[in-house]
Amino acid sequence: MPASAPAAPLPVPISLEFFPPKTDEQRETLEKALPALKPLKPDYVSVTFGAGGSTLAYTPDTVCHLREQHGLDAAPHLSCMGGTRQEIRDLLALYRSKGCRRLVALRGDLPSGMASYGDFRYASDLVEFIRAETGDYFHLEVACYPEAHPQSEDALADLAHFKHKVDAGANGAITQYFYNPDAYFRFVDDARRLGVTIPIVPGVMPITNYSQLRRFSDMCGAEIPRWIAKRLQAFGDDAKAIREFGADAVANLCRRLLDGGAPALHFYTLNRASGTLAILDRLR
Ligand code: FAD
Repeated sequence: MPASAPAAPLPVPISLEFFPPKTDEQRETLEKALPALKPLKPDYVSVTFGAGGSTLAYTPDTVCHLREQHGLDAAPHLSCMGGTRQEIRDLLALYRSKGCRRLVALRGDLPSGMASYGDFRYASDLVEFIRAETGDYFHLEVACYPEAHPQSEDALADLAHFKHKVDAGANGAITQYFYNPDAYFRFVDDARRLGVTIPIVPGVMPITNYSQLRRFSDMCGAEIPRWIAKRLQAFGDDAKAIREFGADAVANLCRRLLDGGAPALHFYTLNRASGTLAILDRLR
């Protein structure tokens, strides 16, 4: 397909994740990406949530913008770390009034300088609270970690906590990104053995910039396999080579995931179109 041809939908459901822009420059970047991504006809798009004070408004504003100006089914992320019951209650009411039926419910991470967990300790507490407040109104996605959450005691304890979160009322799960498909397959098998039946959708991180990827991976505990890291290092400043190799590697990963039964793909777009489109072009 020529690079300029409009993107066509994949025959599997996809969802796209954005972060809420905070500056004019970031708003422009997202506005530029959207016309290229909308023809993919995502099932829904989601908007991340940064915990704490002044950033609280960015997610609802972006969700409303994507729903009202772009006609996208935008689902807010809602993280409870540092938040109060009343803040969450107000956000639930706002999202309901805007027609949102899907939320991504998370614990989040304690921002530096914030001392208190707030009214919730774990994402399972948030899921329970949302169900108690709003019944079955919202479709709730939660996060899970095929390579184990970095703060978990061990992988089996993390899996048990995931099962507890699902039992609290989650309808679906999106994974942290990973580049080893066996980690996903093993995680799904183990979850099924525990009785988890909800869809577990792989989160896919395009590879477009090595130092950024390394930074993210150090923070969230996602492993960059040695063979990928070595290649990316070897490309140095050759951005084109990194993008080409990254798109090939991640498209292969997606192909294996779909062949192995992954029900859908969730792309961490970082508000840019090119990384996601390059992967999807290779999958068609
Ligand atoms: P939890 O499910 O609460 O798990 C957190 C840790 O606590 C794990 O180690 C778990 O094993 C442990 N745990 C859970 N329950 C118990 C228990 N009862 N006893 C002991 N330990 C327990 N962050 C943001 O700030 N904003 C976002 O928008 C955002 N979006 C994300 C989207 C996806 C798809 C993913 C995968 C992650 C996202 N994150 C986001 C990051 C996420 O907030 C962090 O990974 C966070 O550290 C954990 O959130 P969680 O919802 O998975 O927490």
